[in-house]
Amino acid sequence: MMEEDMKAILYTKEEVAARIQAMGEQLTRDYQGELPLVVGVLRGSFIFMADLVRSIQTPLELDFVAASSYGSWAVSTGTVEMRLDLEKEIIGRHVLLVEDILDTGRTLSKLVTELKKRHPASLKLCVLLDKPERRVTEIEADYVGFTVPDEFVVGCGLDFNQKYRQLPYIGILKPSIYQ
Ligand code: 5GP
Ligand code: MG
Repeated sequence: MMEEDMKAILYTKEEVAARIQAMGEQLTRDYQGELPLVVGVLRGSFIFMADLVRSIQTPLELDFVAASSYGSWAVSTGTVEMRLDLEKEIIGRHVLLVEDILDTGRTLSKLVTELKKRHPASLKLCVLLDKPERRVTEIEADYVGFTVPDEFVVGCGLDFNQKYRQLPYIGILKPSIYQ
């Protein structure tokens, strides 16, 4: 089974659920009365985003963007393109960008630059995982689920070659799987 491909489980299903619930409560307070536009970065954010918005108690709207895929984890191309744009205009809106993991920061830096040109009222970043050791751009998330070590993690939307996204926990993949 897929669990045999894990070197370790970093955060269990219960720990992930509890953390996302707490993030939702925080966002409920922070966005009270503002009708935020919650923007998911496909595909990695979809499971986190689904859980997150269901724990937010104030009205919101949803949209999605996609960025160019990362290729294999070890060799980042360094260039990121927006491949799917928002359906809605964001001028004057409070935008919350939701992503699975903030790693080198290239993806979110590119998306933030693009979206800021459209003059949102505010633009904040919410990530399930933060891997600060790998950062190459100056970017920090406003909301972070867990800070993780420099290891390749999967589950809760994060994949390896499109697999393991459905795992309900965050696991460290055995290096033998991706080497
Ligand atoms: P960035 O390096 O631009 O911050 O992150 C780009 C993308 O790399 C993330 O959205 C995610 O898809 C992928 N990524 C980075 N670190 C990991 C990791 O540890 N596991 C998985 N599955 N994907 C990762
Ligand atoms: Mg991704």
